[in-house]
Order: sequence, then C-alpha cells, then structure tokens
Amino acid sequence: MSIAMEPCPYCEKQKKVDAMRCAHCGRILKTTEEQITSLRRFRARERKPENSLLRFIIVLAIAGGIIYYFRENLLPLIQKNSPVLKELIEIYM
Ligand SMILES: [Zn+2]
Repeated sequence: MSIAMEPCPYCEKQKKVDAMRCAHCGRILKTTEEQITSLRRFRARERKPENSLLRFIIVLAIAGGIIYYFRENLLPLIQKNSPVLKELIEIYM
C-alpha cells in the first residue's frame, strides 16, 4: 500500500497529501474549511451504503435460518408432545 506524499510547504519534508498537520514541524497545513471537508470525506468513506445493505442481508439470512430451524426441528417436537398445540398449529400455519 502506498500513501500519496508531498513536501511540507514549511519544512519541505515528506508528508501525507491528506495530512492536516505536518508530522515533522507540527504546522497546520489546511484551513478550517478544508479540514471539515476532508473530515466529511473520511466519514463518508467509513459509512458506505454497501455496508448497511450487506448487514441487512446477513440479518435476513440469520432470521431465515432461525425460522427454518424452528419449522424443521421444533414444530415436529411440539406436535409429537402436545396434541392441543398440534391442533392450534394446524389451524394457524
Ligand atoms: Zn513541515
């Protein structure tokens, strides 16, 4: 992984292009406006819409798995052990 570098306008040592403050001389390199803009860009990168969609799909898959497990394993057990519950399940499902 390579990080884009450029010389600091104050001390001329190499610093990251996006750096808000030079690591060598400690001078602040951007205006407040530029700092806010790059902070917003950083936050937008962290919260990608794909991430929340992926999370939604995972939750859906887990919920589906639980429902499947319930239908396949627990319903026959309930039906076997409780004739009253069996009738209720047959009415409502
Ligand atoms: Zn510097």
